[in-house]
Amino acid sequence: MTKALVTGITGQDGSYLAEFLLSKGYDVYGMVRRTSTINFDRIRHIQDRVTLVQGDLLDEVSMIHLLREIRPDEVYNLAAQSFIPTSFKQPVLTGEFTALGVTRLLDAIRIVDPEVRFYQASSSEMFGKVVETPQTEKTPFYPRSPYGVAKLYGHWITVNYREAYNLFASSGILFNHESPRRGLEFVTHKVTHHVAKIKLGMADRLPLGNLDAKRDWGFAPDYVEAMWMILQQPGPDDFVVATGLTHSVRYLCEVAFSYVGLNWEDYVFINPTDIRPADVDLLIGDASKARTILGWQPRVSFEEMIRIMVDADTEALQQGENALAYLRA
Ligand code: NDP
Ligand code: GDP
Repeated sequence: MTKALVTGITGQDGSYLAEFLLSKGYDVYGMVRRTSTINFDRIRHIQDRVTLVQGDLLDEVSMIHLLREIRPDEVYNLAAQSFIPTSFKQPVLTGEFTALGVTRLLDAIRIVDPEVRFYQASSSEMFGKVVETPQTEKTPFYPRSPYGVAKLYGHWITVNYREAYNLFASSGILFNHESPRRGLEFVTHKVTHHVAKIKLGMADRLPLGNLDAKRDWGFAPDYVEAMWMILQQPGPDDFVVATGLTHSVRYLCEVAFSYVGLNWEDYVFINPTDIRPADVDLLIGDASKARTILGWQPRVSFEEMIRIMVDADTEALQQGENALAYLRA
């Protein structure tokens, strides 16, 4: 049985990846950090089929112990401080988790078992103020937030450990991907959650920031499959994973509100605190390499995904005001 260790298993991607690896017959271990209140909502439905082990990206020794005990064949590093506005407020902590955390984990692998196959969750935010459109594996980087800068460090340290120590260390440069399990603070889920609340009479306004920002938004379950495919290649490499389509936050509002028969302009207002000190205006990826080499392609369209999210939020809210869609989705 192939063994995989997933950091960030309690997050959106970690939960879908764990499901996917279980479906492939893997023995799945998930690294979780100690918290005073347990937060396993996204993995509750698979908790008895995965092994949860304690560790933290801040603590290299904890990861050395885990690697020694588990002896995984594959390690997926999905853990990070992943929200950009928080990275402006806590830039040093973001660097510790999202940048140096990668070095700690790579070092632990180098010490314990350099044969491990390592996946790093790189991000399209590294392209930031884009210098080329669409963005490919060869596009120069220009990050626009402490998160983007930290991810860039994580990306290059992965390349560096591959070249310096011959590790099987690969990166997926994933463009934004969403689902009913996405954190509620991200714009897609913020919009779909508010649309469901407004439709049910629980809210009457939706504060937003930059409506002109454009993203290449895909569906998270499609994207975790690409992560796995990247580690099944004969050698380590980097891959852009994207849909090749881009949409504005304004269009996102149109799709979500019109799905429930409402006009978005009657509800959305600009909230200055939702506007970032520096933003990324446009992202659109060219995933030709992933399509050709991995045989990967997205299955769910943007519009379909937003409808899935509105439905999941509506159902969750109907079952109890405090329920979050991702508890069941
Ligand atoms: P989430 O924010 O949903 O999940 C992040 C995970 O990291 C959580 O499980 C969290 O645990 C864990 N974590 C945070 N800090 C630490 C730490 N110090 N030690 C151990 N675990 C920690 O992110 P996503 O699932 O959306 O994304 C997965 C990865 O992919 C992230 O690295 C993200 O930056 C990257 N990415 C995501 C994209 C997207 O569109 N979703 C696009 C490109 C890259 P806890 O539950 O305890 O907080
Ligand atoms: P990101 O690409 O990782 O920053 O993903 P987000 O979903 O957080 O943001 C995507 C884009 O939506 C960014 O350009 C934001 O500036 C823009 N946006 C506009 N209004 C909001 C808002 O209220 N919340 C968030 N999170 N983003 C917003």
